[in-house]
Amino acid sequence: MDGVLKIFYEKNGDNMDNNWIIESNSLEDKDLLKYESIFNVANGYVGVRGNFEEGYSNDKPTVKGTFINAFYDIVPLTYGEKAFAFPDTMEKLVNVIDSQTINLIIDGEKFSLFEGQIKSYKRYLNMKRGYYRREIHWISPLSKEIKLVITRITSFTNLELFAINYEIEKVNFKDEVTIESIVDGDVRNYTNDSDPRTGSGQSKLLIPYSISFGNDIMQVSCKTKTSNETVATTTKHISNVKFTSNYYKTEKSIKGVFTFESGTRKINFTKYNIYTDSRRYKDPLNDGKELIRKLSNKSFETILEEQEEYLEKFWRVSDILIKGDESLQQGLRFNLYQLLQSVGKDSISNIAAKGLSGEGYEGHYFWDSEVYMLPFFTLCNPKLAKNLLKYRYTILDSARKRALELGHTKGAAYAWRTIAGSESSAYFPAGTAQYHINSDIAYSYIQYFLVTNDIEFIKEFGAEVVIETARIWMEIGHYHDDKFKIDAVTGPDEYSAIVNNNYFTNAMAKYNLQWATKLYYLLLEIDPTTLNMLSKKINITKEEVDLWNKACTNMYLPYDDKYKINAQDDSFLSKAVWDFKNTPKDKYPLLLHYHPLTIYRYQVLKQADTVLSHFLLEDESDMETIKNSYDYYEKITTHDSSLSCAIYSIMACKIGYYPKAYDYFIETARLDLEDTHSNTKDGIHTANMGGTWMCIVFGFAGLRIKKDMLSFKPRLPEKWEELNFKIQYKNSIINVNLNKNRTLISIEGSNTIKIKVDDELYELNENNKNWEQALIPM
Ligand code: BGC
Repeated sequence: MDGVLKIFYEKNGDNMDNNWIIESNSLEDKDLLKYESIFNVANGYVGVRGNFEEGYSNDKPTVKGTFINAFYDIVPLTYGEKAFAFPDTMEKLVNVIDSQTINLIIDGEKFSLFEGQIKSYKRYLNMKRGYYRREIHWISPLSKEIKLVITRITSFTNLELFAINYEIEKVNFKDEVTIESIVDGDVRNYTNDSDPRTGSGQSKLLIPYSISFGNDIMQVSCKTKTSNETVATTTKHISNVKFTSNYYKTEKSIKGVFTFESGTRKINFTKYNIYTDSRRYKDPLNDGKELIRKLSNKSFETILEEQEEYLEKFWRVSDILIKGDESLQQGLRFNLYQLLQSVGKDSISNIAAKGLSGEGYEGHYFWDSEVYMLPFFTLCNPKLAKNLLKYRYTILDSARKRALELGHTKGAAYAWRTIAGSESSAYFPAGTAQYHINSDIAYSYIQYFLVTNDIEFIKEFGAEVVIETARIWMEIGHYHDDKFKIDAVTGPDEYSAIVNNNYFTNAMAKYNLQWATKLYYLLLEIDPTTLNMLSKKINITKEEVDLWNKACTNMYLPYDDKYKINAQDDSFLSKAVWDFKNTPKDKYPLLLHYHPLTIYRYQVLKQADTVLSHFLLEDESDMETIKNSYDYYEKITTHDSSLSCAIYSIMACKIGYYPKAYDYFIETARLDLEDTHSNTKDGIHTANMGGTWMCIVFGFAGLRIKKDMLSFKPRLPEKWEELNFKIQYKNSIINVNLNKNRTLISIEGSNTIKIKVDDELYELNENNKNWEQALIPM
């Protein structure tokens, strides 16, 4: 642990129940940016980085940021040599209007943590109650002493609301206190041309167009430069103490200056900010005004109570308890909390690779959502999972359009990175070539179906997505020696590009085609009318379905006889192995230090590839191949991508490499808290956060979702005393509890559920709610 970060027990009592706090009190330059990301507050709609309201002193590093999920502008992509169907533009998340700034002025002296004397200081995120807070006892350079509690919240129950509350206690003076509160439309996006993981090029995307005040409401609205979308911030200030107000506006911002009468010792002051955007609201300005009237009537206390109630429901199913390791417990909760903060709550948004905490990867959605994050939502919060899946349906037309642009005759080709559907990746070898995103999306629909049995959803959305994605394999694959082969694609491992027969891609394509066929026959059986309508809409014939079936039956899955492993692709094993011995530590991640072609020439992996497909589709290979492949690929995997360690942990559990499983799990659980990839400043790593949850549920508990059944292989890491988690399966809650003596799997509700534990079948039902067995040691 980095010494700065420690566990803070908010209340006395049982430690395990109090690992709800992330605290850092560091004011050192090296920590400022990182904690701006870690202390972001977000609710899936609006997200604000943890910048200080009063700012830092001038020479300190800071990246201010406020984001609305899926609120983007369109920016040009420029190429030296542009080839056919390269995207001309990309969608980019916009840093929107800044409403964070609040200056506190005491008799002419401005409060700053970088001046005067700090008597005590605490900064923390409360994940049970859903706020971020600073508690400060400060003495000004002219000896005015003040106690401050600054709390901020983005409400889960009123998504438009970002509120900041100041509790001010004058300790040794009675003078007037003044607050300057600013709403600023003059914002820019952050760019860094030397790191492909952050944005480059244009930074000024937002143009202020209306600044106003009246009836104590301040309003700033801006338009995006190209997409012509509107965002408005509507702000009102409420206090328990009388104050006088003056407003000053420029062409780009507005400032409210509030002076509180002298004498009152304690002041409570709340800044209510409402964010409304034209992608969701018909009239962002008027809608903002209506919402501020309604929401500023709620006291800050009430807003906090509603937040806690919402979170209580979330944690009831989502929380995972680990007894015996506090720092892991804390890391785990942090990751789950960030997933909830990041997940879009409507079907035009999804989960960006950095959530709403920073501008890394420009607010884009990747396959990360389906493969790394959806499992958590599908099994703990199917309602949110449904939104995420629906999002892919809302951009299905863009994927169809992209397929045609790429020269295909039908089907859908989902963009590798996108916000509203258009391909936003300029580097096609590690972008568009990752066709596997199609089958990853199809896979997540099927997993959702197997978990929820929600056939209506499949009829309305799922079947169309699974079929349209499957069609692309028929377009890019071909028969050779009676086998169906897929050339010129890139698998998940971005250190090999444009290869033939990437094992992962082929195995996932097989699954995609298999399920397209299955869903066709399922609909034919249970609802021919729906199938008829769908067939008419996208022109499906029985002959076409036969072709899908034939291709998946004959899918070529590379296997190497010498090593007895699945080869990553046709040429992978004949390349030279990367010279790991002579690669100094500071040359990692390789992508920042070597030309892609250098990397592509070697056997070296950025992240799990074949090993990942052995997790997602374990029945495609036998145990010997799975184990040999793990041993082979592990040695040459750099884990330069944060998407890697979780998969290696899960598969280490499957194979029985338990110490390894534990070590990889630790890498995932505190990746952002410890900043192990040195880029948390650009935002949190949401896929890894989903990966942590997967390590517990799919790794240590060994859960797999099978047809009409859940299969487990539960093992408790030696260092833990107990592990407890819940999942939601076919309208029942399944409780999994492991301690040193026994494993207990129980069901809440009256359903009958089939489970398989260590290969033996059992049934949980009304009369038989618990399955219990002595713990099998690791
Ligand atoms: C990984 C991709 C991932 C992307 C966004 C890259 O570094 O290689 O697999 O989708 O990050 O998280």
